[in-house]
Amino acid sequence: MIVAIDGPAASGKGTLARRIAAHYGLRHLDTGALYRAVARDILANDGDVTNPADAQHAARHLDLGSLTDPALRNRGIGEAASIVAKMPEVRKALLDCQRTFANTPPGAVLDGRDIGTVVCPGADLKLFVIASPEARANRRFLELTAENNTLTKAEVLANIHARDARDQFRDIAPLAKAEDAHLLDTTNLDIEAAFSAAVELIDPVVSRAGCVS
Ligand code: C5P
Repeated sequence: MIVAIDGPAASGKGTLARRIAAHYGLRHLDTGALYRAVARDILANDGDVTNPADAQHAARHLDLGSLTDPALRNRGIGEAASIVAKMPEVRKALLDCQRTFANTPPGAVLDGRDIGTVVCPGADLKLFVIASPEARANRRFLELTAENNTLTKAEVLANIHARDARDQFRDIAPLAKAEDAHLLDTTNLDIEAAFSAAVELIDPVVSRAGCVS
């Protein structure tokens, strides 16, 4: 059983993916953490996130045990991640580990930008989670405020727009809804409502597959 969840930054897809994985006894992979970790490692080695050779080296030597590092959430790492994520060398180096994770029993929930379109095109269920840029900026602003943020709401919104543009308009594996993905707009939904909507879509698939706890 594979559930593919894609969507833009701060759409709520990560929280939703964790909830779904726990509910159905599946493993969870936040694939954004892979790109963030590549950016972190380049910067830690005084490399250049715009240099494909530095990025490819970091992607090939990534320690998958380091994906829960709190530093991955640092300000600037998301932006840097979206720069390395444009590089074909990086995406290629990270593809196999994502597919292996997805195909290991009892199955998994993966969230990212290209899960339904590239990583797991045959996923049992695909969700494309969206929310208005303003709603996403508000959520991100509240999160950042809890962490002593110094950015204004307008700056957070500008960052969201910049990241959306980079993720949607890149040449390789752009953020896009797979044709067979269900659209879930969380602009006016809290996490409980979004989770209930997702469960309504996933339950029938689980019953048909009959393969998760
Ligand atoms: O999801 P998160 O915001 O942590 O992802 C950070 C960046 O990693 C995204 O802005 C995107 O550029 C990149 N990414 C990607 N493909 C994925 C997951 C993340 O390109 N499957």
